[in-house]
Amino acid sequence: MQNFQSSLLSFSHSRLPCSGSCADRFLFLSQVVTLKHLLRTFHDDRMSCPSGGYSPSGEKPAAVFSDWVHHRLVKRVPFEPVSIEELQSVHDPQYVLDLFSGDVANGHGNTDPRVAESTRWTVGSMIAAAEDALESGLTCSPSSGFHHAGHASNHGFCTFNGLMVAANRLLQHDQVRKVGILDCDWHRGDGTNDIILELGLQHSIVHWTSGEQHLPNARAYFEWLDEAIKAMRAEGADIVLYQAGADPHRDDPLGGVLDNAELSERDRVVFEQLVAQGIPVAWNLAGGYQRDAEGSIAPVLEIHRNTALHALAVLQEQQANHRKFQQAFFAADDDRLDNCDDKPPRYLVQKGRGIFNQRKLRLTKLDLVQTYAGHLEGTPESISHSMMINLERRQESRRFPATGFVLIRPGVFPLPDYRFQATLESPYPTRSGDSDDRSRLQVCWFSGGLGEPVDEMVFSALAKINWDAAATNYDRYDG
Ligand SMILES: [Zn+2]
Repeated sequence: MQNFQSSLLSFSHSRLPCSGSCADRFLFLSQVVTLKHLLRTFHDDRMSCPSGGYSPSGEKPAAVFSDWVHHRLVKRVPFEPVSIEELQSVHDPQYVLDLFSGDVANGHGNTDPRVAESTRWTVGSMIAAAEDALESGLTCSPSSGFHHAGHASNHGFCTFNGLMVAANRLLQHDQVRKVGILDCDWHRGDGTNDIILELGLQHSIVHWTSGEQHLPNARAYFEWLDEAIKAMRAEGADIVLYQAGADPHRDDPLGGVLDNAELSERDRVVFEQLVAQGIPVAWNLAGGYQRDAEGSIAPVLEIHRNTALHALAVLQEQQANHRKFQQAFFAADDDRLDNCDDKPPRYLVQKGRGIFNQRKLRLTKLDLVQTYAGHLEGTPESISHSMMINLERRQESRRFPATGFVLIRPGVFPLPDYRFQATLESPYPTRSGDSDDRSRLQVCWFSGGLGEPVDEMVFSALAKINWDAAATNYDRYDG
């Protein structure tokens, strides 16, 4: 295969023969082509503040987020902190004022104003993630410290109930009649219950908290989870806020009965049975108190990373499954979507539009190879067969690569005489801080002739890409 890899011709971007229409075409591309985003994560450094005491949760958002960035799982989305007034719409107004004036201790048992201020950001993150999930289907808020905060009280490292503030905001949306709260922290969401009763929201909130049950083993846990998810669907939750707590772990000093694999399975089940069924999910972190021998929270980070991986996998699978709607994403008018009988849930349509409207790509390199050059043995059929196997393997083997690879399958067999490979890159550097670190994509296709202008060929190749499926291979956290 070595000769097959060598290129006969290579154009740099500056030498591309670009006709008058080229600029227009790539302008068009810039409007319709963009890279699929990663897990939308509402993080801000101001969410984190040393809170002292036993729980690491005060500093967990930054630690978790930096772990996810390192593993290239997330895209940061900016947001605003919650206002005092909005906190007062869910909590006792005087409790909120006392908390910020230091007359009442926060959930960590101190009156540090910096801790109080950080809660405006953790709650703001939950609200923003929840509202975004209505459009995008699945989002993350790397926040914790919510479910023990009641209407006018707090304990257990929780100060304000971000779940309930977010739920209250969601209920102001026309399309939301019911909000599900699936609380998989190991402990009882007593603060959530308190606020639901105080505000009379029993008919608008479907609240399931695993800490309310005696769950002696993993089997009992999964039976409870199954029942909870069925209830979310049966009661018609329009969106679910999922607390993916790390403290149900059996090694957690305040847990639990599950091991890492079982916690991971829990996340998979939740995402697959809700998101894949068309119910948007915004998830957050909640408790987790394990430490390793050096005293770091690495075991907790691993659990939260697994949740993020499952979220990403479901997101990508979901997009790949909707490839038949690809053409609809390119449609200029709404009529085509509305006339489509088996159209996807509305938020998927909106998500697809967002994908193709945000970012640009630019062509940086084009390689041209003679398909059969260097193959001294074998028939065109046998050479084509092994070549396609190798290319398909290459496309499928890379999950989170620096450079993605997309194969456009030829419509004829054996393969046409020429193989093209275009390298496209995002004009924006990623958030890694390295200005050369960009999302890159190689697109490979075959053609029987060389008569077409290069920009025409690239354009027609790009138009054949199933971006929803292909983009899973190369998107990074840029933009
Ligand atoms: Zn807990």
